[in-house]
Amino acid sequence: MVIHPVIVIGAGPAGIATAVEVINRGYKAEDIVILEKSGEIAHMIAAKYPDEKPVLANYKERMAECIGDLCITDMSKPEFIDYLKQVVAKKKLAINFHQSVEKIVKLKNGQWRVDCGEDSWITNVVFVAIGTMSAARTLGVHIDTQIAHLVQDDIQSIKKEQDYVLVVGGGDSASEYAQILCQRGHKVWLSYRKDTFARMLPQNVEKLTALIDEKKVNFLPNSTITKITAKEDHCSVQFKTLPAINVHAVVTALGSDRPKAYLDKIGISVEKENGDDFQENEQGGIFLVGDLASGKKGGSINFAFNSGTKAVSKACSLYLDCDA
Ligand SMILES: Cc1cc2nc3c(=O)[nH]c(=O)nc-3n(C[C@H](O)[C@H](O)[C@H](O)COP(=O)(O)OP(=O)(O)OC[C@H]3O[C@@H](n4cnc5c(N)ncnc54)[C@H](O)[C@@H]3O)c2cc1C
Repeated sequence: MVIHPVIVIGAGPAGIATAVEVINRGYKAEDIVILEKSGEIAHMIAAKYPDEKPVLANYKERMAECIGDLCITDMSKPEFIDYLKQVVAKKKLAINFHQSVEKIVKLKNGQWRVDCGEDSWITNVVFVAIGTMSAARTLGVHIDTQIAHLVQDDIQSIKKEQDYVLVVGGGDSASEYAQILCQRGHKVWLSYRKDTFARMLPQNVEKLTALIDEKKVNFLPNSTITKITAKEDHCSVQFKTLPAINVHAVVTALGSDRPKAYLDKIGISVEKENGDDFQENEQGGIFLVGDLASGKKGGSINFAFNSGTKAVSKACSLYLDCDA
């Protein structure tokens, strides 16, 4: 079996930056196997960002100080996807789409075998860049099954005719969802368990506050949802201390966690506490990069780029034939 020096799992910002930095340190594109679960690069961004959303360079207090080749300034979503596509073309990165890793096994000689369906690859170093959106947080309350499809984390699936929409959350995504739904002509409610937006970027606080003041967003501070039941084809959202409201759809923006169950299943256990920019597993040779390594603060695109760059430097110093 051919041995590939590097395997990258996930072709989002962190995975692509990682591959680029490996090439920048002397490896060829064909030395790197990139495995992507979906059928496109940056699938999370392509699927989850509303089309109108600006892609912000400074996101969640993550300042845009780039240390590697890849770096973004504020741009639109299509511009960002195009930017990454150009990087992939320029570096001749070959991405294996529709590949979901089932197992990673440490071999006796210290190398790793990565299994995906019928295929297996042997490598010295694995970079795991799968993000955290597969473990998006949910409301954790009872939702009647007949309306369960109306409660989700995907603003892209909200249809024009769904007049009344409840957004749940108090971070930047919640603010951006509320702004975009207003622009699209929906009547928006916003439920947040606190009464102030301490975790939001100043521009998102400002825009959201203006919409609340103009009564375009109906803000429900200190609200805790207890259950969502079906009322005809609507959602009846019930709260601990507030009267119930009826909406056509509910969009959650509650953040995400590391997909620990999946990582455990494929054989990656990371015991160490969060590092600054990336994490290495206990046995050595598997690096978690991007959102997976971003900890409580959460990640950003430029953080994901930097995370890949730093992890590659570390891998060069320990396992690969390159300068850190
Ligand atoms: C709604 C929203 C708005 C945001 N806005 C901004 C912003 O304006 N600016 C900013 O800097 N950041 C923003 N972020 C954060 C930013 O998108 C992330 O920090 C960044 O995308 C993380 O990159 P990543 O490569 O670590 O993970 P991801 O972008 O999640 O990419 C992971 C890739 O791995 C693939 N994958 C997943 N599981 C597997 C698997 N098992 N096997 C193989 N492949 C897999 C996915 O399909 C995807 O292509 C936003 C996030 C959200 C949710």
